[in-house]
Amino acid sequence: MINRRKFLLATTLASAASMLNLKRAAGKFSVQKGKGKPMVISTWNHGMPANEAAWKIIEAGGKAIDAVEAGVKVPESDPESNSVGYGGYPDRDGNVTLDACIMDETGNCGSVSFLQHIVHPISVARKVMENTPHVMLSGEGALKFALDQGFKKENLLTDKAKAAWVKWLESGKYKPMINKENHDTIGLLVIDQKGDISGACTTSGLAWKYYGRVGDSPIIGAGMFVDNEVGGAVATGMGEAVLKTLGTFLVVELMRNGATPQEACEEAVKRIAAKQNAKDFQVGYLALDKSGNHGAHCIHKGFSYALHNGVQNKMHDASFHLKDE
Ligand code: ASP
Repeated sequence: MINRRKFLLATTLASAASMLNLKRAAGKFSVQKGKGKPMVISTWNHGMPANEAAWKIIEAGGKAIDAVEAGVKVPESDPESNSVGYGGYPDRDGNVTLDACIMDETGNCGSVSFLQHIVHPISVARKVMENTPHVMLSGEGALKFALDQGFKKENLLTDKAKAAWVKWLESGKYKPMINKENHDTIGLLVIDQKGDISGACTTSGLAWKYYGRVGDSPIIGAGMFVDNEVGGAVATGMGEAVLKTLGTFLVVELMRNGATPQEACEEAVKRIAAKQNAKDFQVGYLALDKSGNHGAHCIHKGFSYALHNGVQNKMHDASFHLKDE
């Protein structure tokens, strides 16, 4: 007699398989074997200069983990990038608080959240990965660790960001901004010449957030996830929606089960739209697999990403879920 647990498992797997038109044999996970050509892929317009910095390292035969860090450091120190690092918009009380995470090809990862006064939170996250037994440090503890590691304490609130905050205070109304001037979180993924994949994600989070709010970006499996056997994914947009679905872990797991990066991003967006009122906020996913295929999908039209394949570095528009806009 077929036991109930086995039966439930079999039906769940069957419906997942038909949904994604999986090619794998029942019960076996298919890990994609082909080695992808070197590439750098990242979110939004600030991905262009970030990709260039990352590509320099890849081109010289460097490691993906070094490339992702070097790449995202560009918008982190750019005062014009108003949702990442220095120059990022503050919370409702005027504090610039930063979230970042990094993950290498071995599955090692590090993260900082609610970190203030440090221009390169991604480098602090890397130090957490390399120099501590932990994955994540937060707030005052993350700052203390950064200072112990030799990072400099700085004021991250630029005059421009302060002026935007003072203007916001006139109404003081909190409302998510869809596709904030195309300057959002930077999530960046790299395949190096060896075929290894790493990822990084860094942000000042949602403008005018509550003091202490932490989004998806520093959470491994929400804002960014890499499994070097399968691929990687990064997220941008309304962090709460990504957190509720552990979005990038989901994207990578869907790819592990046979979905293409595009199918995986689409399915992860659908999961959000099925349960949350996606009309009012944006989420975008960007993914690549081990063979160097990539995909991108978002809720509302307007999410774009930069792709550097060694021949050219170019912006692309992601496909979107709400077609009637
Ligand atoms: N995901 C980021 C956050 O929620 C924001 C963004 O991508 O703009 O903090």
